[in-house]
Order: sequence, then structure tokens, then C-alpha cells
Amino acid sequence: MSYTEFYENGYGVSIISSEFSYGLELAVLRGTKENAEICYDTPITNDVCGHLDSKTLAEIIKDVKALPAPNHCVECDKPTFNTMCDKCKENDDEEPVSDCCSAHFTYPGWPDSDMCSKCFEHAGINEDE
Ligand SMILES: [Zn+2]
Ligand SMILES: [Zn+2]
Repeated sequence: MSYTEFYENGYGVSIISSEFSYGLELAVLRGTKENAEICYDTPITNDVCGHLDSKTLAEIIKDVKALPAPNHCVECDKPTFNTMCDKCKENDDEEPVSDCCSAHFTYPGWPDSDMCSKCFEHAGINEDE
């Protein structure tokens, strides 16, 4: 059995229990469900915790939930491990569109090209998009 969950602060836990493992095991994770890594440098543990009973497990989970996130997103102030959270980063990466036709810019794209790919006039960025 293996179970993972993630919390608001960007940390999570992976709980593993099998006949091959040391009873109940817990590893502290960071990241998201899609992209998590085991975290060996938290104040809680620098390793995978083994031989846990359910009470100790609940206490560790409480501690993990209370860990302060190392950074906050510069855009929305959500806890993150980067300067910007994944969501804002995604929005930031979106290709800008022209203010005349809301079309992308011609290759190689803004800011190397300021030509609208629809009307082929020089254009600015549509900020509302
Ligand atoms: Zn953000
Ligand atoms: Zn245009």
C-alpha cells in the first residue's frame, strides 16, 4: 500500500506500508502530485521514517502541514518553491498577442518580431488577453 497527499504549503507525504518495508514508512515530499520529490532537508526528518505507529504518523503529518513554504509567489503570494507558482508561471509563459487582431506575432515571435501574423502590420501587445 502506498499513499501520497499534498498540502497547501507545497509539502506532502508519502506513506508506504508493505511486508517488505519497515512497518509504516513515511517520506516527506515537496512539489505536486504530478511532480514531487522526496525532501531530505526538512526539520522533521532527513530520511525516510520507518516503524511508525499511527499516532506518530499523525503527529508527523501535522508537522509537515505546518512547515513554512520556502518562498511565496511574487504574483499571487501562494507558497511555492520557485519565485513564481506553477500557475502564474504558466500564465506568464503564454505567448503575447497583437493589440490589433489578438493574433500571435510572426516568427520568431515577440519581442523579436512585432509584426501581427494576421494583418502583417507592426503591432503592440494586447494586454487584456
Ligand atoms: Zn502565483
Ligand atoms: Zn493585426
